[in-house]
Amino acid sequence: MSQSIETTCVQGGYQPGNGEPRQVPIIQSTTFKYDSSEYMGKLFDLEVSGYFYSRLQNPTNDNVAAKICALEGGTAAMLTSSGQAASFYAVFNLASAGDHIVASAELYGGTYNLFAVTMKRMGIDFSFVPTDCSDAELAAAFKPNTKAVFGETLANPSLSVFDIERWAAVAHANGVPLIIDNTFPTPINCRPFEWGADIITHSTTKYMDGHGAAVGGCIVDAGRFDWNAYPDKFPGLTQPDASYHGVVYTERFGLGGAFITKATAQLMRDLGAIQAPQNAFILNLGLESLHLRMKQHCANGQAAAEFLQAHPKIVEVKYPGLVGDKYYELGQKYLPNGSCGVVSFRVAGGRAGAETLMSALRLGQIATHVADARTCILHPANATHRQMTDAELAACGIAPDMIRLSCGIEATTDLLADLEQALSTV
Ligand SMILES: *Cc1c(COP(=O)(O)O)cnc(C)c1O
Repeated sequence: MSQSIETTCVQGGYQPGNGEPRQVPIIQSTTFKYDSSEYMGKLFDLEVSGYFYSRLQNPTNDNVAAKICALEGGTAAMLTSSGQAASFYAVFNLASAGDHIVASAELYGGTYNLFAVTMKRMGIDFSFVPTDCSDAELAAAFKPNTKAVFGETLANPSLSVFDIERWAAVAHANGVPLIIDNTFPTPINCRPFEWGADIITHSTTKYMDGHGAAVGGCIVDAGRFDWNAYPDKFPGLTQPDASYHGVVYTERFGLGGAFITKATAQLMRDLGAIQAPQNAFILNLGLESLHLRMKQHCANGQAAAEFLQAHPKIVEVKYPGLVGDKYYELGQKYLPNGSCGVVSFRVAGGRAGAETLMSALRLGQIATHVADARTCILHPANATHRQMTDAELAACGIAPDMIRLSCGIEATTDLLADLEQALSTV
């Protein structure tokens, strides 16, 4: 990348022309006008590109998606209404009833539920493999009907670091792409395409927005996976789409555009989980300071992790930036400039101790959210991962009394003082 990532955060994507607004305009319109019905027909056949209905595409969204695409180093990107929609579309764009996906067992609770319950009801089968499994265990998870591999760069909330390069090699050896949820590190701290990932998803609700203001998601394609090398495995991309008069996505849009065009043309058309242009505008404001905020989130996360580790009332701390953490070495490889602001830990006194600490914090407020400018704290076993049994929690790397602290961008001294006073009540 010739331009530094900090500059892309501020000026990537939207490029105003002469006399046009400097800020990304909010195109608050469901529809777009054309001079002839014939031209409109061509739009519907994907023969020409253009906007016609905001359930499929909107210019504000595309300007912001272009910025995220540039940040990740991809060839095409689309915004979705949520991170959940991004994960669903990324997988469903490749897999149908009767297909199979290999996924890391350490996933965000909502993603686990989407895969293990809802998509299973659609006839898609998932094998969940430990993030730190052996090469043999990983290879054994693949089946002839496997269509993709899915993992999180930094798992929410167990904070294990996913060995992207290793998993990408096994995925590719089995003729399938690697999809990475890069929500926690953001492209500021890790760019999974540089390690062999093929498709990236984001919950933009988290650090990218960063202010707890707008739910959203994004999918980015590296444009590198050769669908044509496995035409029988990926017929949706390599064979004619009857719902668009026989268009073949890889032929018409190339490897760089096929995946995102298909997801827009089919999944947005039929399911409509598109981000509102207002939310895309808010997301873009967040992206403009992402590089600055990530530095402070990481500095606070590191300071909080070190403080907690040294505290006598703390049983365990998970943070890849801590020397001696199980994922320290992988963290140094994939996240050399910092991981994120989220620290997972266990306090003495089990679940009761956790609840006492949480209610005593003043800056760290109880919220079902992470990756926000304001520090927040959550008890996953009681909230985001509530549907899981203790055995499933253990497989996800989550203890029943684990607390997830999401360090905001407040002054480090104030955050540590808040933790200190709250721990004195335990
Ligand atoms: C929050 C989150 C999601 C889901 O995103 P929503 O925007 O809440 O739908 C997916 N993956 C990770 C890692 C998350 O933290």
